[in-house]
Amino acid sequence: MAGEPQDDCLFCKIVKGEIPATIVRETETTVAFRDINPQAPTHVLVIPKAHYENAAELAAGAPQLAADVLAETKAVADEEKLDSYRLVFNTGSGAGQTVWHAHAHVLGGRGLQWPPG
Ligand code: AMP
Repeated sequence: MAGEPQDDCLFCKIVKGEIPATIVRETETTVAFRDINPQAPTHVLVIPKAHYENAAELAAGAPQLAADVLAETKAVADEEKLDSYRLVFNTGSGAGQTVWHAHAHVLGGRGLQWPPG
């Protein structure tokens, strides 16, 4: 069910501390940790602690939590001293989503091309 922890979810396991991650920030409702396969000098994932499948489910089911995630992306960017950065929410397999727990990618520290592939 939306919002409930899922036993087979990688990011729920990171929230519970069952899988190690390099956590850079944590709030009551969110966790931010470094991507295991970084695509830029700064590549941090910000996730809600509650399980929502993707950004669409999060926005529809828990808009305040979606706002918490967005606020944390700014906090990460500030801590990483990024003046330019990109936020990505891959939503659906056709967009490249591979982990089915909503997450914002915070990418920065290098020039970023537009449009993305
Ligand atoms: P997406 O393709 O948008 O679903 O992004 C999933 C991201 O999770 C990818 O960038 C992966 O590199 C990252 N990832 C997968 N497993 C881990 C992990 N154990 N710790 C940190 N990041 C991970």
